[in-house]
Amino acid sequence: MKNLSTEHISFDVDQVRADFPILNRMVNGHKLVYFDNAATSQTPQQVIDTIADYYSKYNANIHRGVHSLSQEATDRYEESRKTIQRHINAEKAHELIFTSGTTHSINIIASGFATILKPGDEIIVSATSHHSNIVPWQMMCEKTGAQLKVLPMDDEGELILEDFENLLNDKTKLVLIEHVSNALGTINPIKWIIDKAHEYGAAVLVDGAQACPHIIPDMRELDVDFYVISGHKMCGPTGIGALYGKEDWLNALPPYQGGGEMISEVTFEKTTYAELPHKFEAGTPNVCGAIALGRAVDYMNDLGFENIAGYETELLNHATKQLLEIDGLRIYGPIRGKAPVISFNIEGIHPYDIGTILDKLGIAVRTGHHCAQPIMDFYKIPGTVRASFSFYNTIEEIDRFIEAVKKARAMLS
Ligand SMILES: *Cc1c(COP(=O)(O)O)cnc(C)c1O
Repeated sequence: MKNLSTEHISFDVDQVRADFPILNRMVNGHKLVYFDNAATSQTPQQVIDTIADYYSKYNANIHRGVHSLSQEATDRYEESRKTIQRHINAEKAHELIFTSGTTHSINIIASGFATILKPGDEIIVSATSHHSNIVPWQMMCEKTGAQLKVLPMDDEGELILEDFENLLNDKTKLVLIEHVSNALGTINPIKWIIDKAHEYGAAVLVDGAQACPHIIPDMRELDVDFYVISGHKMCGPTGIGALYGKEDWLNALPPYQGGGEMISEVTFEKTTYAELPHKFEAGTPNVCGAIALGRAVDYMNDLGFENIAGYETELLNHATKQLLEIDGLRIYGPIRGKAPVISFNIEGIHPYDIGTILDKLGIAVRTGHHCAQPIMDFYKIPGTVRASFSFYNTIEEIDRFIEAVKKARAMLS
């Protein structure tokens, strides 16, 4: 294992695994193999320590207190915002809003757009979107009379880019695209899409939930209008995420929630709103989560995203090669050049049954539609088995998984 990886990468997977206490746990009598990373990633000890530290040393409400603990919590919270700003190369720290995650971020933007969209306006949504980037917009279209147009996909799980140019026109107000598909692993050419959309004056919202565990998006280079991420997909805790928005856009959108912290002045006649980012952070935010997310970003940067991506690609290629040798097994979406996600089915076997047998053998995968039912409809299947890898997985684990899939196939066919 070590020999195989050290040729290409400069991190030692055994050492990395020692940071993740959960990987030692037993499941159904077997050592856990965790291949459900696209649903939620595991948490390194460094991030667990940050959470414990917060609650044992400086738990306090932020921004409002004159006392030392409040100041300390505020400083760490704002420092974390800067960590994320630097990480994704945003121009200004206040262009980053802490949210509870991607779903929350998209809903903030969608409800803001409800005040901008007019009947006849158009929004283009990618056919491979996560439900969280479809449903809020359907709700807003119903409210405003705007129309949702679908950018279709092909059999290989790629978006059909020629169709994008045909869909764009001067009524297009917004384009919704995921950087990486959670169901198929496809990496979309978002820079090209952003540039094309801007030619027509349309804004672009990129769902980066599935990209950020593997690559660093560059806000200034992409020139994207909105980019959203979830902490729990990138070694952070659940219930925290970030919304990046260009300053002008965030100033143009109305606040999502009213309450404390988001105001400048309140009287019963009129309330004026606080400056960014507070305008969008009503109430007491997830202070601990935000600080822990900053720690998670630092943790991954210490490993190096190039090392992470290089190693994960080795895992992906090793798994893909062996899976394709199994009779009747089909992989959906691209085979190469994608995130370390494999969605597959075996002819004549329900994905749920495969997932159940793998679980009995201690292997965690996801089965079902992966919050992307339109993709399943496209392939005319009820769902897939999805194995998604992270940098703390190993070649040995993949070999165990392959043996288990073969066993499941033999038992079920
Ligand atoms: C996980 C995921 C979401 C939803 O994220 P939450 O953290 O559940 O809000 C949205 N889009 C993609 C591509 C995802 O992978």
